[in-house]
Amino acid sequence: MDHLLEVNNLEVNFKTYGGEVKAVRDVSFHVDKGEVVAIVGESGSGKSVTVQTIMGLIPTPPGIIKGGTIQFQGQDLLSLSKKELRKVKGSKIGMIFQDPMTSLNPTMVVGKQIAEGLITHQNLSKQAAKARAIELIKQVGIPNPEERYGQYPHEFSGGMRQRAMIAIALACNPELLIADEPTTALDVTIQAQVLELMKDLQEQTNTAIILITHDLGVVAETAQRVIVMYGGMMVESGTVLELFENPKHPYTWGLLNSIPDVDGPEKKQLVPIEGSPPDLFSPPKGCPFAPRCKFAMDICVEEMPGAYEIGEGHHAKCWLNDERAPEVDHAFAPKK
Ligand code: SF4
Ligand code: MG
Repeated sequence: MDHLLEVNNLEVNFKTYGGEVKAVRDVSFHVDKGEVVAIVGESGSGKSVTVQTIMGLIPTPPGIIKGGTIQFQGQDLLSLSKKELRKVKGSKIGMIFQDPMTSLNPTMVVGKQIAEGLITHQNLSKQAAKARAIELIKQVGIPNPEERYGQYPHEFSGGMRQRAMIAIALACNPELLIADEPTTALDVTIQAQVLELMKDLQEQTNTAIILITHDLGVVAETAQRVIVMYGGMMVESGTVLELFENPKHPYTWGLLNSIPDVDGPEKKQLVPIEGSPPDLFSPPKGCPFAPRCKFAMDICVEEMPGAYEIGEGHHAKCWLNDERAPEVDHAFAPKK
């Protein structure tokens, strides 16, 4: 089957005064129609740069796309002109950012911002666009949609603004929605509501979603597949079930151990992952996680581990999966 989105061997660097930062290294993944794929990792792991590259949002310079391809419905996004890419984005790919205040226009009423896309990309008349925008405001759970249509972003609460952003993103009936930490700036109850809304809309519209988050709890609730990134690389990927039941990378173990168990019988101890992310100016030649990994062996520092296939569609880049590696006691990894 052809994938909706297919990213192959993507490499993205940034030129800085200190040298070139290797922000994304050899990233390959795909997203199928109607699927929710989560990308998790700490800040600086390359998740945002990966999706911004898909959206053509990396300024070049200082960004340099060193290599790789991004196929969307069989079309290579990296070879499109700005105009062609804008067309694809406007009609097929929507994006929701962490902070809706920076992506909404403060000087235009919210309803018009939703209607604008409908007029430009779907050739709706002004009147039809207004009617559809009001429908969308209602669909994303904002009360009094007609009145809300004519209000400015500052008249909306944080959660309502994020709902409005979702309405803007949905206005073009996207095949793919990219959500970069869509709930991080919101408080916990509102976070849950916005995620619930995204899940509902996803089920109704069968839009594929790439969900970026640093929260594995959110992943468990929403996604079917997950990609764990570290130091600009994919260190583990697989179905959510596989990753939670049978994680095979020490960094994933660390992430799993840092999920608060809110409804468990006993409060689980949060175990932060000690140490800091790798220096991406001169990434280590071996495993990027080695300086923080309590299982690191000599070879880890010397040589980059390959992607070991654990099961169908489940890969982990860690030497511990080599048949020559010693058994390790990772009893601290979550047990079911
Ligand atoms: Fe740890 Fe080595 Fe695995 Fe890297 S390859 S995560 S250093 S055990
Ligand atoms: Mg980010």
